Amino acid sequence: MTATLTLQQHAERLPGYDPGNLSVELARRLILDACITVPANEPVALAQALDRVLAADLPSPIDVPAHDNAAMDGFACASSALNRNVTTTLPLAGRSVAGRPFDGPLPTGHALRITTGAVLPTGADTVVMQEDCQVGDGRVTVPAGVIAGSHCRLRGEDLRAGHAALPAGRRLNAADLGLAASLGITTLTVRRRLRVACLSTGDELRAPGEALAIGQIYDSNRFALGALATRLGVELIDLGVVADRRDRLEGVLQQASREADVVLSSGGMSVGEADFTRPVTAAMGEVLFWRMAMRPGRPLAFGRLGGATYFGLPGNPVAAMVSFCVFVRPALLRLMGTRCDEPLLLRARSADTLRKKPGRTEFQRATLRRAADGSLEARLTGDQGSGLLSSMSQADCLLVLHPDQQTVLAGEPVDVLPLHGIV
Ligand code: AMP
Ligand code: MG
Repeated sequence: MTATLTLQQHAERLPGYDPGNLSVELARRLILDACITVPANEPVALAQALDRVLAADLPSPIDVPAHDNAAMDGFACASSALNRNVTTTLPLAGRSVAGRPFDGPLPTGHALRITTGAVLPTGADTVVMQEDCQVGDGRVTVPAGVIAGSHCRLRGEDLRAGHAALPAGRRLNAADLGLAASLGITTLTVRRRLRVACLSTGDELRAPGEALAIGQIYDSNRFALGALATRLGVELIDLGVVADRRDRLEGVLQQASREADVVLSSGGMSVGEADFTRPVTAAMGEVLFWRMAMRPGRPLAFGRLGGATYFGLPGNPVAAMVSFCVFVRPALLRLMGTRCDEPLLLRARSADTLRKKPGRTEFQRATLRRAADGSLEARLTGDQGSGLLSSMSQADCLLVLHPDQQTVLAGEPVDVLPLHGIV
């Protein structure tokens, strides 16, 4: 996004921008364009680096492997000492065991017993598998037709010293930690954790543990949204429930925008008389309010409050969670400095008929299983009302019905977004 344009100006330049009926795709693009990596790093011990984002390319300090070595248990020799068409018998000069290399070069015309991972001495370029050899009297007999260089790993064949072992922006997984350890690295420079402040708005909301009067409900969004954010390894700032009062909301959002990189609120997004999010945020920064062409999750606000990125999510619990997955999650990944590729959708057969209006994106809660004929089948988890958390709790995927799609009949294929690792 061009720095000199306001969010509003940038949005208005996008063809098809309609804040009253905005496509999921366009909103995602606007959001991602406006999110840039928070530029703060810190060192972290290797064992604590899981899921953290690498701040810079990590060059390998060494060649890996550091020496030519054996890929099998067997006998090492020079390929030039072997007959091509008949067996060869060579005297054994000793052994090279992992951690205890043979002392010196291999004498010409000799072989050496060697174990997997043990250093190949100079003079040896080939390893013959133990199972193919016969040993006796301090000599080994090697079959005909051994290919020069077989069962050897060469110095630097995995990684060369100075070359990037891991790229900047990598969200470190178990294999990455193993790789860094194999290079002898003890500390990694990673992005500072994002600070994400989360609040719920609504006079009717009570925290779990409190007593409910008639008309009151428990605040579930703060826990569900907080958990979705925690999955991404953020530092969560819990701002509690804020009553539907303009001054209260103003105070909490002011504080949040100073302390956090990202502020997430839910509820109060409509134009009802208790919905203060719009007037309050308008006075604090630049926030755009959208009606999304999407279900669940009609209202969505996005913008900046002071130095923080702001998302205003719908109050309905399922709508809030789906909106998080579709818009907030990719934005947090980008702010964290890591990749946020388009989600990889699976294709499955729908067990149900899915009623659908064209012109909007719909997400339906479902479970995925392998049917008797081996194909993937998706089945709805019941009533799809946007406040019904039990069907979200049962779901392990969302069916994605694209804007141009109409009703999908039972037995027809449908796109599926697996929720594994996200929810
Ligand atoms: P609102 O957008 O504030 O009008 O809220 C829409 C619906 O979602 C209402 O039924 C609210 O009671 C409900 N709701 C709003 N926030 C929460 C929350 N934090 N937890 C559970 N339900 C909520
Ligand atoms: Mg409300």
